[in-house]
Amino acid sequence: MNAEDTADQPKILIGISSCLVGEKVRFDGGHKQNRYILDTLGQYFSYRPFCPEMAIGLGIPRETIRLAVIDNHVEAIGNKHTELTFTRPLMRIAEEQVNWHRQLFGYIVKKDSPSCGMERVKVYRGDLPKREGVGLYTATLMRNFPTLPVEEEGRLGDPILRESFVKRVFIYKRWHELLARGLDWAGLTDFHARHKLILYSHNQELGRQLGRELAASHQQPVDDYAAKYLAQLMNILKISAKRSNHVNVLEHIRGYLKQNLDKSDKQELTESIENYRRGLLPLIVPITLLRHHFRRNPQDYIERSYYLQPHPDELMLLNSL
Ligand code: SF4
Repeated sequence: MNAEDTADQPKILIGISSCLVGEKVRFDGGHKQNRYILDTLGQYFSYRPFCPEMAIGLGIPRETIRLAVIDNHVEAIGNKHTELTFTRPLMRIAEEQVNWHRQLFGYIVKKDSPSCGMERVKVYRGDLPKREGVGLYTATLMRNFPTLPVEEEGRLGDPILRESFVKRVFIYKRWHELLARGLDWAGLTDFHARHKLILYSHNQELGRQLGRELAASHQQPVDDYAAKYLAQLMNILKISAKRSNHVNVLEHIRGYLKQNLDKSDKQELTESIENYRRGLLPLIVPITLLRHHFRRNPQDYIERSYYLQPHPDELMLLNSL
């Protein structure tokens, strides 16, 4: 498996809203420290905190900001002093951070914030708010780095979204390691092969389509195709991985053991996948069983696939799926 790929590696650099690491930078001098992010994910992630509102010179305490539609544009304005606008400073401060943003493999932002929120931030039309906005700093970050995994701390409470974000971070990091080694068609094809089953667990049709496009693109320079490949890869990974898709992948992997298992092992494996399908067992159970059988009956393709080991076991992300 791929445990060696993550063990003893330096921590992965992740950008984060400063208040989430406990810095007292909120409008009222408080913070929103998140112990799961710090203690659990912090075993593998190192954080680069940034508070855009502090960075544009707003002090503590400060008037809160809100997003509002003014002349058909979304603007960040003062909550009380609505004549004050912070739109350009927030966007400019995000642009000024691109050098360190470029070094990141993910970003965790504070939900609901008109500066940092990733989605569903309140946008006012008059006094009526609609949850349809994106914080202006984070909107600029995501526009500059559309493939960077970005997630809100609130959504990390959801097991599926949490697993998806962490998996994308590890994949994004491996992608940059591939680029650093020097990209060629052989390397890209191998990268795809090792992530193919993960893609199938998100959307089999789109995963297959990406494989076909990759195979048909060899006439062009690999560097020209790479950005398109990454964009599609990350888009597929954003689709929720359904239980039924995981079942298809697990059954596909089980097929590689057809010749190697006796009747009772086969039955145990089938029952484990079936119980996962019915929601009686978490994904980690059939995966652990499969890992066990492949340790005894190694298969190169499965050995190299990241599906059975998408991230470190210590994070226990497959235990809640
Ligand atoms: S949400 Fe963003 S702008 Fe608000 S305090 Fe936290 S880091 Fe600063």
